Amino acid sequence: MSDLKLTPYWWESAPLENASSVEVPASADVCIVGAGFAGLSAALHLARAGRSVVVFDSQRAGEGASTRNGGIASGNIKFAFDDMIKKFGLDRAKDIYAEGIAARDHLSAMIKAEKIECSFQMTGRFTGANHAVDYEKQAREVDVLNKHLDMGAEMVLKANQLAELGTDSYEGGQIRPDIAGLHPGQLHKGMLDRAAGAGASVISETRVRKINKTESGFDIITARGSLVARDVIVATNGYTDGLIPWLERRIIAIPSQIIATENIEPKLMDQLMPKRRMLGNTLNLYNYFRPSPDGKGIIFGGRKGADTQDLVKKTEGLQAQLVELFPELKDVGISHSWWGYTGYTFDYLPKAMVHDGIHYAVGFCGSGVVWATWLGLKSALAILGEQDAETIFAKYPFQTRPLYYGKPWFLPFVIGLYDVKDKLNRLRYG
Ligand SMILES: Cc1cc2nc3c(=O)[nH]c(=O)nc-3n(C[C@H](O)[C@H](O)[C@H](O)COP(=O)(O)OP(=O)(O)OC[C@H]3O[C@@H](n4cnc5c(N)ncnc54)[C@H](O)[C@@H]3O)c2cc1C
Repeated sequence: MSDLKLTPYWWESAPLENASSVEVPASADVCIVGAGFAGLSAALHLARAGRSVVVFDSQRAGEGASTRNGGIASGNIKFAFDDMIKKFGLDRAKDIYAEGIAARDHLSAMIKAEKIECSFQMTGRFTGANHAVDYEKQAREVDVLNKHLDMGAEMVLKANQLAELGTDSYEGGQIRPDIAGLHPGQLHKGMLDRAAGAGASVISETRVRKINKTESGFDIITARGSLVARDVIVATNGYTDGLIPWLERRIIAIPSQIIATENIEPKLMDQLMPKRRMLGNTLNLYNYFRPSPDGKGIIFGGRKGADTQDLVKKTEGLQAQLVELFPELKDVGISHSWWGYTGYTFDYLPKAMVHDGIHYAVGFCGSGVVWATWLGLKSALAILGEQDAETIFAKYPFQTRPLYYGKPWFLPFVIGLYDVKDKLNRLRYG
């Protein structure tokens, strides 16, 4: 692995920009903390509506999760639809799904309207069932998705699986036609350019240290000076730090890891990923994977090993999973390996809400390509006082738990438990 780069594959064709010399202005209508998809989506809309906007990021803009992810645009919630019906009731479950569809449509419309070249393609997603019981569960979900939402989801029998994926490791699987793929680095760069073009100031490598509420708004103290703003949006998701302890107690930062392969022979790519779809499986520590946007290599992600800090060990662990799935890749090198933080909530629902006068768009639970863009926009609409600001997620309280202060001490146990469950399922179901 001597040539292995420990930076995201996406940065090769969409390099991050270093800090600009933009001065911190004395005031702005809106101050946004975090220059990922959520912060920039809000910034773009507010700047277009004529508001003065300043966005701060303590790293380079995009260096959080927004240029580190798999680029799978799903707008999913972490529950299967039938589980969601049990948890929330049919009407609410349908409303949540409908918002996911609206959010995905918005993302694709925004990319088109803004002319952002980011290889957006409505590829659909195939999720392989690791065990026959998983296949049955997927089939039940397909029934309810099609019955209540007319989704056009399908099941693929193991006998027909090679048309989807060049492996017999799965017991068949599920196709969701409504899920897309894109290049997250290029999407982020496009949003950054459009937000700046609309007049937003994006000040990177500048941490917001404190936000003090005043009679007319907020005093914001940053590492490079202070400003006053009438409104504040916090869009820090999995990179939430100690800035607002209330928020820190509500976000669980969970690492996720991705590897990218060297180029693969085109004929082999055609065999392994004939339809060039987005892909996944049903493990508790599941994998998400896909062809690179140019179709020449594979991007393969997962959480196995997320409890260790050793990047080489994590890389080897993911590569072993990839080769187990596709033994043909045993001699194909890994070009990039990287990781980042996803931001989870205790109820697995994303959040766009106001607390103590501050707007929050956070908690995308590993599906922020769609949700961050959408809920960043919702925060902007709320500041503008527009009716479209409504979101179903505002109806759910932002929960914390006793003894949780922002350091997920329980994560190694949970990841260990999921790993054991996956191993036991393998022994039990083959
Ligand atoms: C490895 C990985 C794979 C993923 N794969 C997918 C996928 O395939 N599909 C999908 O939909 N989602 C995926 N996600 C999740 C998705 O990337 C995130 O949900 C999304 O990018 C969140 O965007 P954001 O704008 O909310 O936050 P981020 O992009 O994480 O940005 C938050 C920013 O806030 C900044 N910040 C924090 N505190 C401060 C402060 N005090 N002052 C100034 N700045 C601050 C940070 O520096 C950071 O840059 C993945 C995430 C990871 C890590």
